[in-house]
Amino acid sequence: MRKFKTESQKILDIMINSIYTNKEIFLRELISNCSDAIDKLYFKSLTENISGLTRDDFYIRVDVDKEQRTITVSDNGIGMSADELDSNLGVIARSGSLDFKQQNTDENIDIIGQFGVGFYSAFMVAKKVRVLSRKYGEDNANVWTSNGVEGYDIKPSTKDTNGTEITLYLKDNTEEEDYDRFLQEYTLRDLIKKYSDYIRYPIRMTVSEWQPADEEGGEEKETKVDKTINSMTPLWVKNKNEVKEEEYNEFYKSNFHDYEAPLLVIHTKVEGKVDYKALLFIPARAPYDYYSKNYEKGLKLYTAGVMISEKCADLLPDCFSFVRGLVDSDLPLNISRETIQQNHQLKGIADNLKSKIQKELLSLMGKDRQKYEDFYKAFGLQLKYGAYADWGMNKELLQDLLLWRSVKEDKLVSLKEYVEAMPEGQTSIYYGIGKSVAMVKAMPQSEQLLDKGYDILCFDTDIDEFAVKMLRDYKEKSFANIADEAVEDDDAAPDAHQDVLDFAKQRLGDKVAKVKPTTRLKSHAVCLTAMGDVSLEMERVLNAMPNAEGNVRAERVLEINVEHPVFAKLCALYGTDQEAAGDLVDVLYAHACMSVGLNIDNPAEYVAKVTKLLTD
Ligand code: ADP
Repeated sequence: MRKFKTESQKILDIMINSIYTNKEIFLRELISNCSDAIDKLYFKSLTENISGLTRDDFYIRVDVDKEQRTITVSDNGIGMSADELDSNLGVIARSGSLDFKQQNTDENIDIIGQFGVGFYSAFMVAKKVRVLSRKYGEDNANVWTSNGVEGYDIKPSTKDTNGTEITLYLKDNTEEEDYDRFLQEYTLRDLIKKYSDYIRYPIRMTVSEWQPADEEGGEEKETKVDKTINSMTPLWVKNKNEVKEEEYNEFYKSNFHDYEAPLLVIHTKVEGKVDYKALLFIPARAPYDYYSKNYEKGLKLYTAGVMISEKCADLLPDCFSFVRGLVDSDLPLNISRETIQQNHQLKGIADNLKSKIQKELLSLMGKDRQKYEDFYKAFGLQLKYGAYADWGMNKELLQDLLLWRSVKEDKLVSLKEYVEAMPEGQTSIYYGIGKSVAMVKAMPQSEQLLDKGYDILCFDTDIDEFAVKMLRDYKEKSFANIADEAVEDDDAAPDAHQDVLDFAKQRLGDKVAKVKPTTRLKSHAVCLTAMGDVSLEMERVLNAMPNAEGNVRAERVLEINVEHPVFAKLCALYGTDQEAAGDLVDVLYAHACMSVGLNIDNPAEYVAKVTKLLTD
């Protein structure tokens, strides 16, 4: 007896003890494996010019034995050798699924729904599973058996033809669960129609049919006939108006292992320079590993009706890596992993798809704003990364898809909407960096801009500012961080105060590059800005990078509102008590830091100074 790998063992436990109500999905999982196995052999026959194998020879069968209480799902596909039985069925294929489970401990529904968990789902309905397989080109067969719990055995066996035969020994019925229903012909037919109708190889079953009474008055007779249950027409080959929403949803869920219907379906047929059909889906939510390095983008690729790549990454740009689906086109069959990249036809398709996806998203934004915002919640971050990546190469593609929260209206706005709403006299697109609209709104620099009727975009993720640096401008309006030094204020300094400003600079030393008077503030006394290319936010983000040495510095500027009573107080103290004036400078600097969300160096010292100021 061989033991299952630990992770597989745990998944099996979940399967065996599953109370998942949707146990019926086991059939679609097994059938889809059969279809893949046939695809592999068919592909091999075409690329290696194996004669004697034609498309019509391939089939999948579902058979039941009511007495033995077994269901057998078989195919004449590529089959598995003893080693392959060991490595393919001894280990759960979808890595990462257990991590997911550990993070979501409450129920077992998530993991099954999320991953489908392939072959192992058989253990939701079976107490024992037997897999008899003969690999194409080999003479000997092997049989793999397991009751799920302990482990599994592999023994040599015999089988007349290549392919795989999977027999499920159904669990005993319980009060809650009637497993016998899976032995009923109509249940199985329904399940095949529901989940596997589009499978492009015939799924055959022996079914009962009533023969009409003959003319001589004989009775109606029940006979057994072999029938193909599925329609075999791939969904994407049908016309859009022939496909129901429900069908798209079921197809998506069963093929892309999602438990939720997709947010958007893009079904397209293109004829012209490049011919292809594509059926694309945008998931309703980001997969649990989407923003991790484990996530692999890509579309299934079919040619001449056979799947040649399960995940062709070249078909999708990174900024749309969340899209799932397939492409069917007449490409050369021998297209291998290496040549995919050099294939012009494929590149043409990829380019087409890229702009198609963008157009569909734009149109969604116009037609169903709420849905677009739901999409944006899941994948907006990826679009921002996309705008930043490759030196802003995808600027045109992405800029109209981006949304940020408006500080004025507290709702998401696009750049187009922002620019259209700009009052006369406003020349830049302003943004402030803060965790929430309320935080940006309360920043000293915001007050006067908002008074003028200007809006400010709230940048609440690390990537925002980097992304707009790459965009550079939108409709000839440049982006301006409200915490950048306002250059036009430079001559706001009444000479009379220069000595106090110099004193403040001296007191703060290297902490600031400059202390200057400002007219941009109203009720606030001070604000902190940055001059030069590195903003305060970029300093924070860059220094937080894994390999950062912490030496990125923004050139900080302390701007003082010389009209403010606090400045009058500073001037007075400067004349009478320089030590107290120095403390006040420290406090003002701390306030400027805090109001842009920066930590202060020595909170206890700050508290002591403020307390003293409050008591004096
Ligand atoms: P997945 O299909 O997602 O890879 P499964 O757990 O369903 O995961 O199957 C694991 C592997 O076992 C498959 O990748 C395939 O290599 C092999 N396999 C399963 N069923 C068959 C079959 N009917 N014929 C040949 N190989 C199969």
